[in-house]
Amino acid sequence: MTTEDLITRLYGSGGKLVADAQRPRLVIPAKLKPLFIKNKARLMRSILLHDIPRRTEAFRRQLRTWAESGRAGDIVPTLVLPNAPEPKAGLCISCGTKVGPGIWRCDTCRISVLNALAENPQLDG
Ligand SMILES: [Zn+2]
Repeated sequence: MTTEDLITRLYGSGGKLVADAQRPRLVIPAKLKPLFIKNKARLMRSILLHDIPRRTEAFRRQLRTWAESGRAGDIVPTLVLPNAPEPKAGLCISCGTKVGPGIWRCDTCRISVLNALAENPQLDG
């Protein structure tokens, strides 16, 4: 199972990564505990924990701007960090860091996007 799969399973089951500077932690639903006991260290190595709050805030701002603009096209915008390079195969679409074949977003950006989407009340309904 890839770290991308772990993140998808975690958020799809109501879990999340709380990137609190004092006490970063994974909130893991009971049914996923065995899976995460086995894979938590690998997941944590794949992310830049300290940068998740900054990325989440940048993506949250973009979502807010989009929501306030009347949701142009009603398609959630591609969330990209300021100063990220132009999109290119093999690079994270949000930050430009190198990613594996067929992967669009690095794990740090993936979690930050999911946190921004989950924390944006304007996207409800
Ligand atoms: Zn990234």
